[in-house]
Amino acid sequence: MRALTISAHGGLEQLQLRDDLPTPEIAASSDVRVRMKAAALNRLDLWMLGGLPHIKIAPPWIVGSDGAGVVEAVGDAVTSVKVGDHVVLNPGKSCRQCEYCTSGDSPLCLKYGIMGEHYSGTICEQLVVPEWNVVPIPAHIPMTEAAAFPLASLTAWRMMVSKARVRAGEHVLIWGIGGGVALQALQIAKALGAHTWVTSGSDDKLARAKALGADEVINHAQVDVGKEVRNRTSKRGVDVVIDSVGEKTWGQSLFALGKRGRLVTCGGTSGPMLQMDVRRLFWNQWTIMGSTMGNEEEFAAAAGEFARGQLHAIVDSVHDIAHGADAYARLMSGEQFGKVVVSL
Ligand SMILES: [Zn+2]
Repeated sequence: MRALTISAHGGLEQLQLRDDLPTPEIAASSDVRVRMKAAALNRLDLWMLGGLPHIKIAPPWIVGSDGAGVVEAVGDAVTSVKVGDHVVLNPGKSCRQCEYCTSGDSPLCLKYGIMGEHYSGTICEQLVVPEWNVVPIPAHIPMTEAAAFPLASLTAWRMMVSKARVRAGEHVLIWGIGGGVALQALQIAKALGAHTWVTSGSDDKLARAKALGADEVINHAQVDVGKEVRNRTSKRGVDVVIDSVGEKTWGQSLFALGKRGRLVTCGGTSGPMLQMDVRRLFWNQWTIMGSTMGNEEEFAAAAGEFARGQLHAIVDSVHDIAHGADAYARLMSGEQFGKVVVSL
């Protein structure tokens, strides 16, 4: 089968399209084999290409964490899907038995891993996973949109629904609209009835976010977001901030956060070390939360909204697997609005 692989870390030159990899076989009775139709890139793929400390790859390493396809074979014990079903893949795998897995926190499982990072990736023609890693979707949804759905939606769902517990009427600030998680967070916040604020350094992206329903837009390249939020809300601030930027935005996020505010972070793309005045934390009774990925129930809930057409995956561009490096280059450019998809 064909697959997009890396055998060493570095730049785009390390990406290699192989056509000689063995077809994966069903090994356990709970396994399903998916004929992959499309996959999508995440920032994680750029880090994997460059190399992550503590992560060792076994060449030829298949890249990619997101994907969708059609079930082509199932093990004897599989009951949740059948051959021919269209499915989206949950990129996270866990033991399903430990104290974290059984209490809804599978991303904390000591055996938790993500396809493309700890397990073989999704940019390949055939993939074998346990049945609990796939969720069926209606056949009318384009595979390129389905492939763009999983990782960003799962991450945003846990942050918005399970962690921040956003309620109707609350103000939610989302940094960096155009990124996958931010776009899914915006849609989920809107569906929950929140008043949404989004930022970008691009007026074009802000206009597109407005078209998707963003209530307030701020160009973070032109103004201090914290001050701007306080000005526009008569110092009240917002109830929830979704921040994955870290060092660069942390101070502004906290300045924008109102009393009883909740800040949820899922990353630190600008740097990891943060500063904070503890007096403002207790006086304002803030809650600071970390979040990463999500559990099977959260994935099923998000996929259910996706299947019903209540939640969409925003596709920036589609690249054939033969031009995988172009897809990576597009993500590296930072110019994308939505997911960069690889078609198989
Ligand atoms: Zn576990």
